[in-house]
Amino acid sequence: MNEEQLTAALVNQFGWTPEQVEVGLASRFRCEYCGKDLIADVCTCGYDYVVEHIVPRAAGGLDDAANRSASCRMCNTLKKDWDPRVVAGHDAARPVLIHAAREYVMAALRAREIRFDGERQAIRLHYQWRADHRL
Ligand SMILES: [Zn+2]
Repeated sequence: MNEEQLTAALVNQFGWTPEQVEVGLASRFRCEYCGKDLIADVCTCGYDYVVEHIVPRAAGGLDDAANRSASCRMCNTLKKDWDPRVVAGHDAARPVLIHAAREYVMAALRAREIRFDGERQAIRLHYQWRADHRL
């Protein structure tokens, strides 16, 4: 299968947008923040794969190839409108901005893990009790 056929398959058979294919090719179909394999999501119409803007549009980021990044939904949700120029500087090159955003996303993920650990245990205990109660 050549690249043209691959693109046609992703768009016509799997429901990806041409933009997802274009940005995905540039990132080798990996989330640019956590490294998740985005091809693994091919059968769910790219639901877990979003094209996002490294410098948020709300902060003046352009909608061009240099500012678009391939992101899994989790990383996109954690990054939100965070602007990596805050850390990397306004003249930073794309790889430096990506690195800063990756660090931010991973720190946000660790913070969530710590914050919700208590709730996770409470939920498990609660539903364990209910499961026992039904038996
Ligand atoms: Zn990711």
